[in-house]
Amino acid sequence: MPPANPPFVPPGSGWPEDPAVPATPVAHGAGDVAELAAGAPDLHELCARQSVCRACDRLVEWREKVAVQRRRAFADERYWGRPVAGWGDERPRILIVGLAPAAHGGNRTGRIFTGDRSGDWLFASLHRVGLAARPTSVHAGDGQRLIGARMSATVRCAPPDNKPTPLERTTCLPWLAREVAEVAPTVRCVVCLGGFAWQGVWPALKQAGYGVPRPRPKFGHGAEVELAPPPSEPRRDPVLLLGCYHPSQQNTFTGRVTEDMLDAVFVRARDYR
Ligand code: SF4
Repeated sequence: MPPANPPFVPPGSGWPEDPAVPATPVAHGAGDVAELAAGAPDLHELCARQSVCRACDRLVEWREKVAVQRRRAFADERYWGRPVAGWGDERPRILIVGLAPAAHGGNRTGRIFTGDRSGDWLFASLHRVGLAARPTSVHAGDGQRLIGARMSATVRCAPPDNKPTPLERTTCLPWLAREVAEVAPTVRCVVCLGGFAWQGVWPALKQAGYGVPRPRPKFGHGAEVELAPPPSEPRRDPVLLLGCYHPSQQNTFTGRVTEDMLDAVFVRARDYR
């Protein structure tokens, strides 16, 4: 009998409303992920299935260990300790893709880019340009709301050293690919936060039916690629893929990323067609 996920979250806990129920099917390997992602009837069920996934042994062990050990500053908090599902508008114009949740950020709060320094920069920028209701994203019950935008990640579990292995990225790919396909009818722009997200999003876009160029364009801050939409979409105008340096502490401390640089990317995403 495989180990179970941590208990399902009671309402009012301050964590995101749990999309999963005890009957939600749990993936225990790459084949399960592909099957459950493809078979999810809608975005809500897709997120529910993502949130209980146990397909990557190393990441399951790590996310749950971090949730028990905790950081001293959060010693009195209960950590989410599960995969962090995509969140935001269900019919977004903009899809924002990061690499993976942070060990003491998304893995603690249950919401991507929430409760960490990168999120402080990211949400401040999104708020300045009108894509987030509040300038901060502290915990899942803080009233934050994305406006016409959605956030997701190439890998849904916090990895040691922020480095998922190639196998873990491949195993997690069907979750993102299906999410990309689900929101394709409304998405006009995909913003990739950092080079790893840029690399990781290409196979998801391809699986979702987008026309992707060969060779793949290089990542850079403000890099732009126009993609042919999936043939199944009635709209034929291109979708914009935008590169954005990751608002990591290293990048923001050193000035590699500034507020103006972030705002410029999100203004471009907001105003694209
Ligand atoms: S990284 Fe993705 S595939 Fe691996 S356990 Fe987490 S949610 Fe599942």
